[in-house]
Amino acid sequence: SMSSVSQDLQVQLEETTKRVRTLEQRLEAAEWNAVRDDLTGLKNRRGAEDALLDAITEYEESGESFSVILCDIDHFKKFNDTYGHLIGDAVLRVTAVALTDGIKGQDTACRWGGEEFLLVLPNTSCTNARHVADGLRRRISIRKLKLAETDSPLPPITMSFGVAEIRKDDTTESLVERADKALYMAKDTGRNRVCAESDVELEASRAAS
Ligand code: GH3
Ligand code: MG
Ligand code: MG
Repeated sequence: SMSSVSQDLQVQLEETTKRVRTLEQRLEAAEWNAVRDDLTGLKNRRGAEDALLDAITEYEESGESFSVILCDIDHFKKFNDTYGHLIGDAVLRVTAVALTDGIKGQDTACRWGGEEFLLVLPNTSCTNARHVADGLRRRISIRKLKLAETDSPLPPITMSFGVAEIRKDDTTESLVERADKALYMAKDTGRNRVCAESDVELEASRAAS
């Protein structure tokens, strides 16, 4: 009877091990989904916040500078109104692919919200990030999209970009706020363009003098 007790225990142990493994897999899937955007497969807002916090920690520990690009599709409301939400969703997906294809392995592209995306570029100055943003801007604006069913062409999609580089004592909010101001300036000065935080500051000092 000793050996039957130990056999029972063996069976129980195996069942428990199996259950733990299943729970571990479910937890991993849940953690992955919590930071993913369903539509584009990019990191979502939470994933973006994590990426920003990681980059700031790295900056504080090693002094390695990094930049962010905030970008937003131009006149997307009108596009949706004209072509419908489903076509709009498809455009968001191909835009996510274009952004991902246009950055390097260590860079991260996230869906910040709606038709707005945030890119985190480790080891990159604002000047270099501006070049990256302009490459993306061009790449996206020259694409020729057409409707799958009818083959009829869609108008070009353009995006506006705001660029900012990490500074001492920055929080995720203060950094993104500078990128957002630059993005606002890009919108305000005609769209389909890149503005950096330095452009905003130059304009502010001009206005003050
Ligand atoms: P601007 O050039 O100033 O950015 O103009 P805009 O029309 O792009 O900006 P606005 O903020 O007025 O509108 C954003 C639009 O983006 C509204 C909404 O229809 C669309 N949008 C946001 N999220 C989604 C989405 O998940 N799917 C689709 N199809 N459209 C979305
Ligand atoms: Mg927009
Ligand atoms: Mg927007």
